[in-house]
Amino acid sequence: MKRLLCVLLMICMLVSLLAGCGGSSDPVKSIKAEASSDKYRNFYQVWIGSFCDSNNDQTGDLQGVISKLDYINDGDPNAGDDLGADGIWLSPMMPSKSYHKYNVRDYFNIDPEFGTLDDFDELIKKSHDRGVKVIIDLVLNHSGDDHEFFVKACDELREGKEDGYARYYNVSKTSDDTYNRPISGSDYYYEGPFSTDMPDWNLSYDGTREYFEKVTKFWLDRGVDGFRLDAVKYFDDKNTDAVEFLKWFYTMAQKYNPDVYMVGEDWDDAGNIYTMYESGIDSLFNFKFGNSGGEFIVASHGMAADLATKLKKYDDNIKKHNKNAINANFLTNHDMVRLRNMLDEDDNKMAAAMYMLTPGNTFTYYGEEIGIEAPNTSNDASYRTAMIWDNEALPDIYVPGVAGVEANALGGVKQQLAQENSLLNTYRRLIKIRHQNPEIARGDIEEVVDFKDTEVGAYIINYDGSRVLIIHNAGEEAKELTVDMVEKPELRGWSTARVTVAVDNLEVNTTKDDNKVTLSGGKLSVPAKCSVVIKENK
Ligand code: CA
Ligand code: CA
Repeated sequence: MKRLLCVLLMICMLVSLLAGCGGSSDPVKSIKAEASSDKYRNFYQVWIGSFCDSNNDQTGDLQGVISKLDYINDGDPNAGDDLGADGIWLSPMMPSKSYHKYNVRDYFNIDPEFGTLDDFDELIKKSHDRGVKVIIDLVLNHSGDDHEFFVKACDELREGKEDGYARYYNVSKTSDDTYNRPISGSDYYYEGPFSTDMPDWNLSYDGTREYFEKVTKFWLDRGVDGFRLDAVKYFDDKNTDAVEFLKWFYTMAQKYNPDVYMVGEDWDDAGNIYTMYESGIDSLFNFKFGNSGGEFIVASHGMAADLATKLKKYDDNIKKHNKNAINANFLTNHDMVRLRNMLDEDDNKMAAAMYMLTPGNTFTYYGEEIGIEAPNTSNDASYRTAMIWDNEALPDIYVPGVAGVEANALGGVKQQLAQENSLLNTYRRLIKIRHQNPEIARGDIEEVVDFKDTEVGAYIINYDGSRVLIIHNAGEEAKELTVDMVEKPELRGWSTARVTVAVDNLEVNTTKDDNKVTLSGGKLSVPAKCSVVIKENK
């Protein structure tokens, strides 16, 4: 009996020794990920027309999106091949004469190119079943010029009638920089900063607000969880104060759904974004950090220390203007050159870690996670090309002005799922880290940690007393750092850009497990182009 116990004990020791050496010591594989139940989400921006075409008419549609929900989120945060996103931002889908549908003709329906209201209801239900919230792109700055109210307004103005439908729009008899579009056959001009087919609503007219309330109620009743508000910067005009309008809109929508989530597009400098937060809406896209000249992209090349300081300043400021502000971080969207045209794969991974390991919500533009490249860097349609699911079975999707569909240099979804350190798997890993460490999204940046190295950016995020230290090494060399700013540091995860590490001046291919991130006795070793998450244990 005694001998048997001895043998068992020896086997146990051997197994634990083997697990310690050769087994997985990767915390991202072992820590449990929790699904979100609040407004803190990882959004995935779906450009419906280019995502997936269900009926072979060369245009993506809602049934196509439904068929790919398992890719976005399969409902299990601890398993599967899904991205793990738990929010979807749907690009405009209401009836419109353009392919982009930002000039809305009818606010109460789905464009037939994309499907029907029944398809939409199915998409909402199946998203909710997976714990995924859906927000829709809502264009309140302008309508299409074929919207019933604008057509009637023009007819009335041709007869000199100003007190009918014309009240819904910003019109004037005097042309200037604002009232820059003539109404043919009349003495009037209308405001249309974007184009002739996008007349600006008069957002201060009670009738417009009553109409928008009906629109809002209609979509919230269908189960929509919130809105991405287009062009909020342009709400400011001779009639309207944008902050006042946004405050009205948010308060009104909360009557129908107290948990409604809103993110506004204020493509402007930080100061104006801070002011817009005074409206009380949850989020405004962080344009200072996204896009080609944005802080995340600049920092990915090596300037990480600077990034940490700027992030804290931005985070502090938005919360000063709205204590419930949720930062909305992104790298690119449908109006910007694809990230892959700006960054190589390593810097792309680095930039992804930088925006994902930051307080607030994340917004990932479809295809960014597989590194889709724009065929042309100077036209919007080129940033909206077909999603590549499989390089060996390219989709037949047509985007106006873009010729053909090309294979993706880094591989389609299918190819990248099979490569452990692919760009797609880096995004999946980062989103999982966010699910495993709820402090990252929900906390405040308590302090910037200065490692006296411009390539290393670090900050502590504090969420209700739970502290997480984020360290980015954006440099080309591994770093040895002393971690004494948090008690009992625990390694919670890392994201590495490289699968090769230099050993004794020989570059060798290694697996990711060998691309060592180690934390021992308060000494952290971080490879080049790597971000690390450390949690304090008290
Ligand atoms: Ca279709
Ligand atoms: Ca899953």
